[in-house]
Amino acid sequence: MEKRKSIILVTVDCLRADHVGFMGYVRPTTPFLDSLAQDSFVIPTAIVAGAPTYYSLPAILASRYPLALGRDVLGIGPDEPTLASVLREAGYRTAAFGAANPYISPRFGYDHGFDTFRDFLESEPAPLVAKNVELQIGQGWASRLNHHLQRMRPAMGPLGPLYDEAYFRYCQQVTPVPDSLDALRRFPAADQIVEHACEWLASAGNAPFFAWLHLMDPHSPYYPRAEALASMGDHPVAPFEARYLNSYWNRSDLKSRRLARRRDEIVRLYDGGIRWVDGQIAQLVRKLRAANIWDDCIFALTADHGEEFLDHGGRYHPPSRLMEELIHVPLLLRIPGATKNDVSKAPFSLLHLAPTLLEAASVPAPGEFRGRSYYRQLGKGEKFDSVAISECVAGCTNPFSPFNRMGPRVLSVRESRFKLMFYFDTQGDVLYDLDADPHEQKPLATTEHRAERRRLLEIAREHLARSYGDRDWKAQVRARLRDHRLEWTDSTPKISAAAS
Ligand SMILES: [Zn+2]
Repeated sequence: MEKRKSIILVTVDCLRADHVGFMGYVRPTTPFLDSLAQDSFVIPTAIVAGAPTYYSLPAILASRYPLALGRDVLGIGPDEPTLASVLREAGYRTAAFGAANPYISPRFGYDHGFDTFRDFLESEPAPLVAKNVELQIGQGWASRLNHHLQRMRPAMGPLGPLYDEAYFRYCQQVTPVPDSLDALRRFPAADQIVEHACEWLASAGNAPFFAWLHLMDPHSPYYPRAEALASMGDHPVAPFEARYLNSYWNRSDLKSRRLARRRDEIVRLYDGGIRWVDGQIAQLVRKLRAANIWDDCIFALTADHGEEFLDHGGRYHPPSRLMEELIHVPLLLRIPGATKNDVSKAPFSLLHLAPTLLEAASVPAPGEFRGRSYYRQLGKGEKFDSVAISECVAGCTNPFSPFNRMGPRVLSVRESRFKLMFYFDTQGDVLYDLDADPHEQKPLATTEHRAERRRLLEIAREHLARSYGDRDWKAQVRARLRDHRLEWTDSTPKISAAAS
């Protein structure tokens, strides 16, 4: 009997498609993954089903749209089948190692299906740059003067921006600086996550396994390992400079034009995070090869969403607009035994990733999965024509509060050429022709391409109708009870021990 293949899934937070070498990026961010891409399927237009993390991962792990259980539900529903739970039932050993992303935790159901689940949230992260500044300048006459001036800030009129600038510089100067970038980083770096995964693999016996690694190195604040910058040929960045850049980039008082002056330096730090991820994946693969496991491993690398660097005037990855820099991610699929082919340029929703991985491992996908497998099309090099839908709740940057989750939806419907963005707050729809305008700078007038607009609106309407029609109301209630640390029973909900 043929040995069953193991699956390794690596999701890299904030990794946009156009910053990896195998997608054409000119800087050397991913030399190892580029070499792996020679024998892998590279999906040119992989699209997340939502952004950021909490609107993306339900599709990757549970193959369903992020708002399918209702806007108020975050994460994986209790007992919802996922890649992990299906593989565990099929006899796989399962483990997840996440680099302290607060949304990827048992509270939101992400441990479901995993024998081992490590989120590293127990380790205290370094304080936020802004908080750090506040803490450090709490004493002394200069601080008292600043507090006084801050109170007067609203009345300063045209002098306000000058005060903001002076205050920013003052904070940078008075806050002590650690002696390495490592002390500023807020998340465990990829080497730590890979090391834990390798330890688990070494002690896990001979059954096939599913390992999920979620890496945060490219996530802001951008503090890459110094070695990563050096291996890209970049000049070293001192901790003071790196902190200054991150604080500058985080300023809310600056317009895009001033932020843009430091954009390239910030992107260099971001790229350094990607390079570190690449090197650690190389280590992981080296160990798997040494243990004679690699030849039986399906390997998938993708991202939960991208990152904006003023492409549309914004920064980071807030859920407000689903532009390409946020929804287009890399997807590399290495399937032992499959013949590498060029892959269709049509959008490939990450909704289809879990069923595709399951078929590659010859494990049946559950009926609840909304995506379908593209394994055969990839293997045969067949063209496919598909539509990718992405959705999020506008402005929900802090979903820990259920109230924040109830804002208006944003929906994007992306075909190969046309993309429709639908904003539910203003009921406005905006159409782009990505062939003529790949960076989405010129929305089409309502008089142009009316048939395409109508077709994409119809797809959006069908998506919403299906999403309400399919809704599992019991799962929705159970997920909300979990949010309140309550437990579902068949009669009345009761307080669980976890709440105490
Ligand atoms: Zn994320």
